[in-house]
Amino acid sequence: MRTRPLIWQIFSSYFLIIVLAVLIITGYTSRSIQQFFHAQIIADLQVRARVTGDRVLEKLIVNSPDLQPLCRELGPEINARITVVLPSGVVAADSEEDPTQMENHGDRPEIQQAIQDRAGSAVRFSHTMNKNMMYVALPLKNNSQMAGVVRVAFPLTRLQNALSMVYAKTITGGVITVILALLVSWYIARKLSRPLNEMKSGAERFAQGDFSQPVALPKTQEMSRLAQALNLMAAQMDDRIQTVVSQRNQQEAVLSSMVEGVIALDGEQRVISLNQAAARLIGVPFEQAQGQLLTEIIGNPSLKAFVLHSLETSAPMESEISVQGQETQILQAHGSVLRDAQGEEIGAVVVLNDITRLRRLEQVRRDFVANVSHELRTPITSIKGFVETLLDGAMDSPEDARRFLQIIAKQADRLNAILGDLLTLSRIEEEERKSLIQIEQGSLYDALTGAIQQCEGKAEEKNMHIVLECDPAIAVPMNASLIEQAVANLIDNAVKFSDSGKEVLVAGIQTNEETIIRVEDHGCGIPAEYLPRLFERFYRVDKARSRSMGGTGLGLSIVKHIAKAHGGHVTVESTVGHGSMFSIHLPK
Ligand code: ADP
Repeated sequence: MRTRPLIWQIFSSYFLIIVLAVLIITGYTSRSIQQFFHAQIIADLQVRARVTGDRVLEKLIVNSPDLQPLCRELGPEINARITVVLPSGVVAADSEEDPTQMENHGDRPEIQQAIQDRAGSAVRFSHTMNKNMMYVALPLKNNSQMAGVVRVAFPLTRLQNALSMVYAKTITGGVITVILALLVSWYIARKLSRPLNEMKSGAERFAQGDFSQPVALPKTQEMSRLAQALNLMAAQMDDRIQTVVSQRNQQEAVLSSMVEGVIALDGEQRVISLNQAAARLIGVPFEQAQGQLLTEIIGNPSLKAFVLHSLETSAPMESEISVQGQETQILQAHGSVLRDAQGEEIGAVVVLNDITRLRRLEQVRRDFVANVSHELRTPITSIKGFVETLLDGAMDSPEDARRFLQIIAKQADRLNAILGDLLTLSRIEEEERKSLIQIEQGSLYDALTGAIQQCEGKAEEKNMHIVLECDPAIAVPMNASLIEQAVANLIDNAVKFSDSGKEVLVAGIQTNEETIIRVEDHGCGIPAEYLPRLFERFYRVDKARSRSMGGTGLGLSIVKHIAKAHGGHVTVESTVGHGSMFSIHLPK
């Protein structure tokens, strides 16, 4: 629908009313003025006719030939044309024409009225005079006997000129009035429409969500109430929007801080809501996932099938899904129906939980149990075998019996060493978990010397020399006996995996950020592919060699845990054939 501005509607109405009013007033005034002048002229002409009638009556009665000259004389005197007509309509005399040449005037309306003894008048175009004339006729009576009619005629040209001037002035006045009235009405229209325009702008601001500025209250009562209602509505809307926004923010904060991934989908498989964790778990950019179709964001077929199934089934669902990425992830998925406030099913919500670490820990635990069983079985089987051999008769040979018993003792020592290391590990883990490990400021030099002393016997057996490089002034917050044990494990390995005569370097270094304990050897070295798993329990590069040297496969694992218990970590650099360098990093 075509709409027009209010200002134009008000203005055009005013315009119409004013123009109509001016037209009516001008028309009415002009008509009244014209009627007034006519009446004036008629009255004036009647006086002149009466005066003339008095003078011509006696001449008319006696049918005097002086009538015509008298009329000619009186005409200029009264400044009008005089015509004397007999009751028969025959013209008896005329001040300006020859009466004998004039036609019968009995049919003229003013003459007819006068003959009927009334004052007659008429306005007519005179072909004789060739102009508009006003005629006034009066009866001439001789002792109540109709003797004739005296008619005076007056040209209306002057009156018309005078009226034209009046009309021109009236029209000019009317036009000026219209212009003034239009200016006033334009002002009023503007005054009326301005507050409405301001309210319109205010309402538009509100619609755009800007509630900072209320609408100004106009002076008109109704408009002021309307503006108040608008402001109230805006305040309530602002309030509601704030509530909705804060609820949404809270909801988003809860969702985004969740570790679990949450995806809500509608019946058309479109994402209604999704949190950062879900985007990360399914591997899509968070910003792009909202509003997308399920098929566009989930590539994994098992996960896609699970979500689709959740959309189709009302019952809650649970499943474990493995997702192949850079690393294999195991996701625990829970699917349930999504309902609106009325309880209507509107889609499904799927919660994803990354249980990769849990499953890995379970695997580590299983592997550990299997490894421990395997490690223990070997010496036990050996012991059992030699005991049976002894019982089977080897006991009878003191020499064999002695050799076998020595092997049994060695295997028992091995069992003891494994159990000892396992106990040490679990003790460190337990103390670390419960924060029971006592950390005190102590001399690093003393701890390293203690560790070297533990290993000196074995080193001397292989004709090896252990060099210590450490500033005796270095003091570190540590558990001295654990650090000593860790360093002893590293030196023990360095001695074990180096050829006779080689040197082992033990160094204590302090930097701005940390303290580093370094154990460096020139032994066999470790191939790079073994390095990532080196610190796992029971992990050995060369199982047979390690066992033959009495290794339990737990030494480095103990070192790692001791470093961890100090808030630090352990690193290794190694080159096959050149040697290895283990470093324990302790934070300051
Ligand atoms: P083990 O009791 O067998 O020494 P560790 O946990 O101390 O167990 O060490 C695990 C494995 O790491 C060893 O079996 C060995 O293969 C390798 N290793 C450790 N230290 C060294 C080293 N200094 N030089 C070469 N190999 C080493």
